[in-house]
Amino acid sequence: MSEQGLRASVELMERRGLGPEAIKVFEYYYEQLEGGAQGTIPEASIEPLGAVTELLQVSVTDEEARHALSQTAVIKLNGGLGTGMGMTGAKSALEVKDGLTFLDIIAKQVLALRERWGVELPLVLMNSFRTHDESLRILEKYETLPVEGLPLDFLQSAEPKLRPGDLTPVEWPEDPELEWCPPGHGDVYVSLVTSGVLDALLAKGIRYAFLSNSDNLGATCDPDVAAWMVGHGLPFVAEVCKRTKSDRKGGHLAVRKSDGRIVLRDTATVAEGEESYFRDIKRHSTFNANNVWIDLTVLRERMTAREGVLGLPIIVNRKNVDPADPTSPEVIQMESAMGTAIEVFEGSEAILVPRTRFRPVKTTNDLLVVRSDYFDLDDSYHIVQTGEGPEPYVDLDSAYRFVPGFEKRFPHGVPSMKECTSLRVIGDPVFGRNVRCVGEVLIDGYRRVLDDAVLGEPAVATQETDEGRAGDVRSVDAHLRAILSTLEPMPTEATPLTESLGLVVARDVRARVDLPPFDNSSMDGYAVQSASLEGADEGPVRLRIVGEVAAGDDPDFEVGPGEAARIMTGAPLPAGADAVVKVEDTDAAASGEVECRVVVPVGNFVRPVGDDVRSGAVIVAAGEVVGARTIALLAACGYAEVEVHRRPRVVVMSTGSELVEPGRPLRAGQIHDSNSSMLWAAAVSAGASAEIRQAVGDSEDELLEQLNVAVKDADIVVTSGGVSMGAYDVVKSALASRGVEFVKVAMQPGKPQGYGMLEAPDGRRVPIFTLPGNPVSSFVSFEVFVRPALRRLMRLTPEKRRMRPATLISGVTSFEGRRQFGRAVVSRSAEGTLVAVPVAGQGSHFVADLSRANALFIVPEDVTELVAGEVVDVLVLDRED
Ligand code: AMP
Ligand code: MG
Repeated sequence: MSEQGLRASVELMERRGLGPEAIKVFEYYYEQLEGGAQGTIPEASIEPLGAVTELLQVSVTDEEARHALSQTAVIKLNGGLGTGMGMTGAKSALEVKDGLTFLDIIAKQVLALRERWGVELPLVLMNSFRTHDESLRILEKYETLPVEGLPLDFLQSAEPKLRPGDLTPVEWPEDPELEWCPPGHGDVYVSLVTSGVLDALLAKGIRYAFLSNSDNLGATCDPDVAAWMVGHGLPFVAEVCKRTKSDRKGGHLAVRKSDGRIVLRDTATVAEGEESYFRDIKRHSTFNANNVWIDLTVLRERMTAREGVLGLPIIVNRKNVDPADPTSPEVIQMESAMGTAIEVFEGSEAILVPRTRFRPVKTTNDLLVVRSDYFDLDDSYHIVQTGEGPEPYVDLDSAYRFVPGFEKRFPHGVPSMKECTSLRVIGDPVFGRNVRCVGEVLIDGYRRVLDDAVLGEPAVATQETDEGRAGDVRSVDAHLRAILSTLEPMPTEATPLTESLGLVVARDVRARVDLPPFDNSSMDGYAVQSASLEGADEGPVRLRIVGEVAAGDDPDFEVGPGEAARIMTGAPLPAGADAVVKVEDTDAAASGEVECRVVVPVGNFVRPVGDDVRSGAVIVAAGEVVGARTIALLAACGYAEVEVHRRPRVVVMSTGSELVEPGRPLRAGQIHDSNSSMLWAAAVSAGASAEIRQAVGDSEDELLEQLNVAVKDADIVVTSGGVSMGAYDVVKSALASRGVEFVKVAMQPGKPQGYGMLEAPDGRRVPIFTLPGNPVSSFVSFEVFVRPALRRLMRLTPEKRRMRPATLISGVTSFEGRRQFGRAVVSRSAEGTLVAVPVAGQGSHFVADLSRANALFIVPEDVTELVAGEVVDVLVLDRED
């Protein structure tokens, strides 16, 4: 079967001018793939890496360092295109800090090391043909950089992407370059040989190479690691860093049980169902920094002995032929990873290095931190930390995801991040000059960040409560900010069109077809050659009818001079025809000859192919909300599904021993549960899906038991009741010690609020809101906190609904220090302004008045009384009649 696939691939590689060695390696991989190699490393076959040498414990003399560096070359993997950051050229050509590109900094780092140690230290890039020109142009200005007898770069190889079924090379005429991929960075060893660079280095007496990615500016050629390696006569060294909770993805090293060798397990080589082992940072406590050191004489020996095939394990990557288009055909890419060479050499070692040696810029979030004053370049162009605290966590909204959008929104440079612990930006504001971020910063719905702004204020303010006691009361805005800062948008998922309404598109969708797909008629009439109608405005012209085309036909005849074809709206234009005459301008003959009474230009009533949509164009952009019209376009382009952020599932649960489901009879002391249905409806109208669980009585055990069940199916849990000061307020007592924070919020109604995370059995963290039980308090709390949270989960802007000014018809009073959300009926006066009539029952238990109201009016914290005629902000809930 795939004898043919291999032959076709090899032919393509030969035609591309790839050398016999590269082809041989490809053949080797191909055989492994064909033999069913999945390239996975099961947990049962390995043991954790165990203790390794720490760089900080290594002591090296200057002489040892100099001796090691004098035999070392720096090799940077520089084939990356930065497509993930919306770049088209070499990623390392991006300005990353102080006006310098990655490559400038790398060159300066190398030059500084040469000067400090008096060594030759050659720098060689592994480029792809797409990064070669641009990279060398940047390095041109460093006249002393090139080293006698060595090129500044060599090129990585390429291989065809394969169809998963028959393993033949994929065809993609839309962009034939996408039919090729690099064979992973493990290719560096092969290309070092085929380019002649390996032998050139050895001829110069260079025996060791330090290999790392060019986007990792922390990866400098460290003299201590070099000296340690040389001193211990090691063939291969991999640098590892301590893994934290946020590094669950990258690969880790482990010891293979069968032969005691160190192996690298990457995300792509995790066996199915073993993700939890892979993510377990206690078991696999370090990750592979992808900085490796190799003894080139050992590499040369091995390559000679194995006739150019190092024998790295393959990684079988399944991707789409056009990575930007998830609906393009699936392909297999056979790759190898640089770090897996560790298993090839007996006596390889790992060394634990500080986190500073791993500083890759993979996203614009990383770029912001590296560019900011949290880091500095020292005299030897090493990246050093200036901030005191841990590296700030940055999460910019999609508008900043690509470099051009990022640059546009930071025209005066990125903010100061020295004192910042986290920065999240929701929306797409442009940042002013001299902006400073302090502590935890959430920017939500700003249009612009002003010059000299200091962002991030303490979340808790101490105020007097209405009971007159001093205590911690959190402002409404601070509480909302605290909630939003814990929430991430839902994972994305390919979703059928009819289930995607209201959800946010996760990735740009490109058309795979032209619309219209063929030239067709926009009228019922006759397809003609426009030239045949010359003179028809002076007297009718008669054309011979040669056929008829209805929508859905595929005409096999041609329309020549003096001829016409009857054509219907939407039918393809037959060959030869270039215009349509509408039936009203003819005698409407069905056969024989048709009399035409008008002259028409070429293209008349013709909808040309691709007029609406061109194949390859973005038809729906990431971030768009799916509506009826989006669905129309996707369907027209043939898509049955769209990748969206999944709809959050809300589980609603009321608490209270007095509650009875509506529809069932009440005994003395009981009431019907109205919050459950109300919260369900509010969640659904916010765009979530929701489910009501049976109300639980005031028992801690019952509550915890039911919550354990609920979290299994929930992305978010909303309870009501049991959070105030009463003897049976079990929600608070049961959950306060379980990670839910109970706070007083400076609002009325809705002062007691609880929010936190429950852990689901599968390890997911499920946010829980515990709202107060009074129906009006519950409703207001949902509007103020839960709705924005749901919007954040859906990746919508959690902005508050629009406030409008309205004139109060009667006076109201409000508590000092609390924001009051009163209920009102708002309508339009004869003059067109809004007027607000507060409902009579402002108590938190008045369900009928709540239902009657169509708006909330807001009395600010510092206002205690408003008289009739004063203007308040109102939040319109539904119709304003
Ligand atoms: P709690 O917050 O549990 O102290 O309840 C405050 C008030 O709201 C009490 O009068 C409860 O009976 C009432 N209440 C609590 N939960 C609900 C519910 N699900 N439906 C209607 N009223 C409720
Ligand atoms: Mg209760």
